[in-house]
Amino acid sequence: MMDRRMVLAGAAALAARPGWAQGDPIAALVDQVSQEVLVNTVYGLTSFPTRFTDHPQFPVVEEWVHDVMALQGDVTRFGFQMPSGKTRHNFILGDASDTRGVILIGAHYDSASEDSMNNAPGANDNATGMAAMLEAYRILSGAGLNKSVVAMAFAGEEQGFYGSAAIAEFARAEGWPIEMMINLDMLGWRPPNPAMPMIVEYDMGNAVAGNDAASASFGQMMAEVAADYTTLNTSHTDIWASDYMPFEATGFPAMGLYDGGVDDPRYGTSRDIPDVLDFGRLQQATRMVIAGVARYCGLSEPI
Ligand SMILES: [Zn+2]
Repeated sequence: MMDRRMVLAGAAALAARPGWAQGDPIAALVDQVSQEVLVNTVYGLTSFPTRFTDHPQFPVVEEWVHDVMALQGDVTRFGFQMPSGKTRHNFILGDASDTRGVILIGAHYDSASEDSMNNAPGANDNATGMAAMLEAYRILSGAGLNKSVVAMAFAGEEQGFYGSAAIAEFARAEGWPIEMMINLDMLGWRPPNPAMPMIVEYDMGNAVAGNDAASASFGQMMAEVAADYTTLNTSHTDIWASDYMPFEATGFPAMGLYDGGVDDPRYGTSRDIPDVLDFGRLQQATRMVIAGVARYCGLSEPI
């Protein structure tokens, strides 16, 4: 495939606004997704024996997540308390109080298994979501969007969304103008049939009724960009059992992407390892996130 950036560079001599005059700026964004970066993040996270939030060594995982995110900008550290009494942290990139409006991309970085204290690699659940979130933020934060994109890494998901619940309440109290919470939880499963859909989860009821319409229309738009910019088929379900639930319950519009991988026998076990993932599928899911956010926000300047 021809390098679109070279096409645009060539057009610059001819057109006053080259990005707009020539080609599709969203296609230029999604083409920046690096499978190598996704692979590196997944293998980095799964190099810890476990990322179980209550593990005494969990702060070492926290510092790794902090340092990886800090490569992309100033990281906000948000502490919360687990039921065990331990203090744990979410990590945030981007301006969550930007009055132009905020698109929040979230993923949990903790893991669990049948042997959580010793062996919980959590590759698909949820190193893949973390990798997609960080790669989407890397590309979108430099894209000149008309709204603020925020990346948020949660701990305490596996015990009951403790990290996301704490920050959703804080966001509500602070009045953060979050227009959509996009949750990424499991994106790299290699399904038995490659045509199996990536699942767009949007809000159909749950705790608050007033945020359903925004979630459904965003979800439908995500299915459209999947058709336009990825090789993925899509289907949809309700949101369920991940970090979007506390955001929905505090009134924010929320939706998610998910690969259907709870049907895999490795799900939730010590066999959820990176070697068996489909990184091409993870790359396509990341393209989908970027295209959806860019289409929703609009671009304020040529790429
Ligand atoms: Zn998960």
